[in-house]
Amino acid sequence: MQERTEISTLGEFGLIDHLTKNNETKNSSTIVSVGDDAAVIDHYGRQTVVTTDLLVEGIHFDLMYTPLKHLGYKSVIVNISDIYAMNATPTQIVISIAISNKFSVEALDEFYEGVYAACNRYNVDLVGGDTTTSQKGFIISVTAIGEVAPDKYVKRDGAKVNDLVCVSGDLGGAFLGLTILEREKKIFEETGAQPDLENQAYIVGRLLKPEARKDVIEYFAEHNIVPTSMMDISDGLSSEMLHICKQSNVGCVLYEDKLPLNEDSKEFAYKLELDPTACALSGGEDYELLFTINQADHEKIDKNNGFSIIGYITEAANGKTFITRGGNKHPLIAQGWNPLK
Ligand code: ADP
Ligand code: MG
Repeated sequence: MQERTEISTLGEFGLIDHLTKNNETKNSSTIVSVGDDAAVIDHYGRQTVVTTDLLVEGIHFDLMYTPLKHLGYKSVIVNISDIYAMNATPTQIVISIAISNKFSVEALDEFYEGVYAACNRYNVDLVGGDTTTSQKGFIISVTAIGEVAPDKYVKRDGAKVNDLVCVSGDLGGAFLGLTILEREKKIFEETGAQPDLENQAYIVGRLLKPEARKDVIEYFAEHNIVPTSMMDISDGLSSEMLHICKQSNVGCVLYEDKLPLNEDSKEFAYKLELDPTACALSGGEDYELLFTINQADHEKIDKNNGFSIIGYITEAANGKTFITRGGNKHPLIAQGWNPLK
């Protein structure tokens, strides 16, 4: 009898490892393959970056509280965020959709309004895609292509001992936005009461209308900074930090009191009796950039108040450590939301 192994025994990352463990690179033009935010392809010295993401109704978004225009916008953002995470500039996207007959042309027009708004804002051309039907649910696949100056791409595997660990923006907001929207959805379903978002525009916006950190890549270019490693934060800080440590074969120390938290996020977390630190560590979908830099670049990062230095890189043998405000040491673990729920 054929063996049957449940996917849940591997988890998302274990499954990808399993499916790609025998994957061989046959073309010299393939410079970076599976395992990073995007692949890098070389065309006689010019380098192209490519990444793809699939968004599935009921898994990645809920149309009860996601306006279609926002969904279109976000579908583009989550992809080009992976291009920026390679220190590259997105240039084109292709987008494929599977739709059921519950959608009208007007609804799809709204979705595309969001797609075009993101393309305009980030100077990206929509150059193709595919359209098909789905029996149930809306499925969106976006592939983004970008370019990077030869060998200026930044992978997840370059962090070195004593590098500084940095993050852009603030963390945990999108998770709190999701929490309030899910709460209000439940109340609406049970009582029919109109949603009360308590004027939480910041956190709701973080979830429904994220931005990609184009400005960070531009800052690096202007200040001659090439991070030693980088990735975008889609699954949560601790999960992404562990990816960098694993792929760079290093350890790290992160400090709770250095984690960037927005005031509104913090207050709202307290109100829900959630720990803002846990939201920052494990909440996903903020689409900020996590990167490491050589200490020589310390001042260049420090003078930009949009960045936080949250820790440093150690030898692998020292493990991955999280130091709380009270000075207690804990192993850094990923409780991140696994999108393959
Ligand atoms: P991100 O969160 O940055 O989008 P993922 O965790 O989705 O990255 O993917 C990690 C790596 O695994 C990427 O290089 C991606 O291209 C690759 N990957 C994901 N799914 C598959 C698959 N089914 N087959 C081959 N490669 C995959
Ligand atoms: Mg990524």
